[in-house]
Amino acid sequence: MYHVTLSESHFPPQTDVELRDSTVGSILRDAAVRWPDAIALEEVDESGESMRTWTYAQLNDEADALATALLTRFRPGERIVLWANNVPEWIICAYAFGMAGIVLVTANPGYQPRELDYVVRQSSAVAVFVVESVRGNPIAEIARTVADDIPAVREITDIRDRDTLFATGDLQQPVPEVVSSDIAQIQYTSGSTGFPKGVLLHHRGLVNNALLTTKASGGNDGARVLLVMPLFHTAGCMTFLGLCQRGGHLVMPPMFDPALANLLLETREIEELGAVPTMLQFMLDADAREPRDFSSMRVMVSGGAMVAPELIRRVETRFGCPLLTVYGLTEASPIITLVRAGHSATDRSETVGQANTQCEISIRDPQSNTVVPVGVVGEICARGYMVMAGYNDNPEATAATIDAEGWLHTGDLGTMDERGFVKITGRLKEMIIRGGENLFPVEIENVLLEHGDVAQVAVVGLPDETWGEIVAAFVLPREGITLDLNALKAHCRAQMAAQKTPSVWVEVDEYPLTGSGKVQKFTLRDRYLDGFYDG
Ligand code: AMP
Repeated sequence: MYHVTLSESHFPPQTDVELRDSTVGSILRDAAVRWPDAIALEEVDESGESMRTWTYAQLNDEADALATALLTRFRPGERIVLWANNVPEWIICAYAFGMAGIVLVTANPGYQPRELDYVVRQSSAVAVFVVESVRGNPIAEIARTVADDIPAVREITDIRDRDTLFATGDLQQPVPEVVSSDIAQIQYTSGSTGFPKGVLLHHRGLVNNALLTTKASGGNDGARVLLVMPLFHTAGCMTFLGLCQRGGHLVMPPMFDPALANLLLETREIEELGAVPTMLQFMLDADAREPRDFSSMRVMVSGGAMVAPELIRRVETRFGCPLLTVYGLTEASPIITLVRAGHSATDRSETVGQANTQCEISIRDPQSNTVVPVGVVGEICARGYMVMAGYNDNPEATAATIDAEGWLHTGDLGTMDERGFVKITGRLKEMIIRGGENLFPVEIENVLLEHGDVAQVAVVGLPDETWGEIVAAFVLPREGITLDLNALKAHCRAQMAAQKTPSVWVEVDEYPLTGSGKVQKFTLRDRYLDGFYDG
């Protein structure tokens, strides 16, 4: 815990742990020297059976060989979309790309063709690395179809097919010197305006944030950690990057399933787990049906969305370890505040903790951009090594997010108390957070507007016990049209990942409007919750 007494909402950077000049590649090389024989990665299947393991030395050798092969087919700085669920090859690719200076572009395995098309074009990717399919989504086939129309794409590579992945090409170039300030990844996130934006993250931000977060959360060297977060999200990625820097053992199933997660906590004697609150709720539900032994657990970390104090209490009681909240966003590599094990029960359940190490936090008036006094609501802003390099090919959005003094404006509203503890009170941005995943109303609205029956639509988030928020669409049909909801749902499903399809549909004949004529979304939400649209 940091001891400060603040009068204004500004927490200076704490430097008790130093930043490293490492890269995604160099941390694996270091780990292979420090812990050559320690298990780094263990793949388990859908039934919880152990499939394959890699020691740090083996993982490093493989990533190194892949980097060498890739450099005969790609140039440093080129971008490759990695489109897969949680498979070991994802991690091997991430390290190999890091060593070769290739930029990894993440993609959600639920994407439909138009979403992949957007990401490939926006990122100027030259290849898409895929698995055959994920949960029925024919990823490889979609990638091939999409790439047919994009001449820049030279390869669609199945990462589970070793011969193809490690194939050598005609390029002859030495392994480049990759430095900490180079871009390592582009992650697509909804952000506050427009279509998903590509967040440019450098090695320095990713590698240090993973380490500092892990240290602040009290992670032990050599710990056994279960990965349930998706690798395409910074939360999943930071798990293996952090663990690599303490010689830990990552246990990785192909997807999140609550009963499987509980089983693995028991059979693999897991000590640490990070998850979004919705997953924790599902794990408690699964445990009620089939209780497991969680006695090896030491710490759980939750982030991505508000976690109810009651859920914290139930998780801590059942799993027998502290549940520590982290708060962050992709643009900050990602964690900027966190709760530490020594913090009081009240601080742990009612705040998102204090600033992460080496991270400066201020709360600012959204209009004047001045720091507000302690206790006053404003926009949470962060500054430091972990701030993204910007949005890919989008200087306007970058300038709207990072101000002239280097402050990253999170779009989240909150307060800071005199001890520097931050509370989140709302969002400036319209984003919907469903089960920890960010969904962006404009994107869903655009898809719905393409349907001939829809004249206008407003998409908002509604509170939901299980998911935190769910997607609701308030649709104004074209004149003379009777809405066919099943057709609208099918249209959404064909165009977007399943989680973006609204689960609540309301037909309206008018919208509440703001003075400037914009749909007043919070009124729609309040009206719905008050039963205005019932019957
Ligand atoms: P992402 O970029 O996907 O990591 O999402 C970032 C957004 O998730 C933040 O801007 C917040 O709105 C929300 N978020 C992340 N962590 C928390 C948390 N611990 N409590 C509440 N909201 C959170």
